Amino acid sequence: MHERFVFCSGCGKKYPIWKKMFRCECGETLEIIFDYRKIKKNFRERIEKRDFNHARYIELYPVKKLVSIQEGGTSLIRSKNLEKLFGMKFQLYFKYEAQNPTGSFKDRGSSVEVAKALEFKAKEVVCASTGNMGASLAAYSGIANLKCSVFIPMDTKTVKLEQMLAYGANVYKVHGDYVKAARIAEEVYRNYNIYLLGDYLYRREGTKSIGFELCEQLKGIDYIISPVGNGTLISATWKAVNEFKILNIIKTRPRMIGIQASGCSTVARAYTSRLEIKPIKNPHTVAVAIECGDPIDGKRALKSIKESGGFAEVVSDKDILKARDLLARKEGLFAEPAGAVSLAGLIKARDSIEKGSKVVCLVTGHGLKAPMTGVSGKVKKSFPKRLSGA
Ligand SMILES: [Zn+2]
Repeated sequence: MHERFVFCSGCGKKYPIWKKMFRCECGETLEIIFDYRKIKKNFRERIEKRDFNHARYIELYPVKKLVSIQEGGTSLIRSKNLEKLFGMKFQLYFKYEAQNPTGSFKDRGSSVEVAKALEFKAKEVVCASTGNMGASLAAYSGIANLKCSVFIPMDTKTVKLEQMLAYGANVYKVHGDYVKAARIAEEVYRNYNIYLLGDYLYRREGTKSIGFELCEQLKGIDYIISPVGNGTLISATWKAVNEFKILNIIKTRPRMIGIQASGCSTVARAYTSRLEIKPIKNPHTVAVAIECGDPIDGKRALKSIKESGGFAEVVSDKDILKARDLLARKEGLFAEPAGAVSLAGLIKARDSIEKGSKVVCLVTGHGLKAPMTGVSGKVKKSFPKRLSGA
């Protein structure tokens, strides 16, 4: 165990590592600070002996043992056609997170979060989800023999709902959006002392492995483009990059580009206006997985973008669906709309990318999770007649 303490960058307060925490007393989110000097000793030699997956970086998670179904170790795929199609003067890669056990990047965080719940002797867990986290936590709770309840927004897609039920979760639809579902989950935790899972500090630590893997898969990445919902993915990736810089695994850090849908652009709007993040009531986008009107890690997302010298961009639902189709038709990668948000953002902002750089788009979730969202193809009635042998 290499954790030193739990830290609030909002008020500067430190908490001991054994204390079960979700937020700071001041209301801000928390992070875990590790003893990097201890970890640094032979770190590269140690990890190189291990398989290439999420468990490879165990020293950098706040748990003794992971709850694991071999998540992570996903492919980093060089663009086959889109680079040329758009005349991009840089190298484009896709980190295809659909390859995770439940079809999204959420499994990385779940592996650590559910392990932490077991360390805190939880018997039962609760969370709010737009679909992917609920499905992932249902699976991981199942293998850890924890009873799992998930609160989901009214518009959660049937496939994700069915996935949660298949993994054995108790699923509750709330009359409202994700913010309302999150509020109810936090109430259940407070009223019944049921262990709370979600975009809190332990999940962020698990989500870091996407950044660790990228640092090992491709040397000298210049840009990482990430969708922003609650802001946990982009801030976890930035934390990972910084930890690998401290540990001498990488020399330079990439710039972080955060992409949001126009129907829920809390962080991007704050970036452009240089004002505080303002929550949005009734957000709406086809990229439902990032429909978080009051982003839990919004401030961290904004900080990651600014610290890294990156930027934020907003894309329309039309841009997102177009990118989703291009990803499938030109690269063979089927993503749900939220998974194509990074590509949509890159297409829009491609002129802001420096020539000759290495760019990675995070493709966060599988297309089979939302297969019928705005599909543009049609089933044909019969095969058209044509000249034989032509
Ligand atoms: Zn605080």
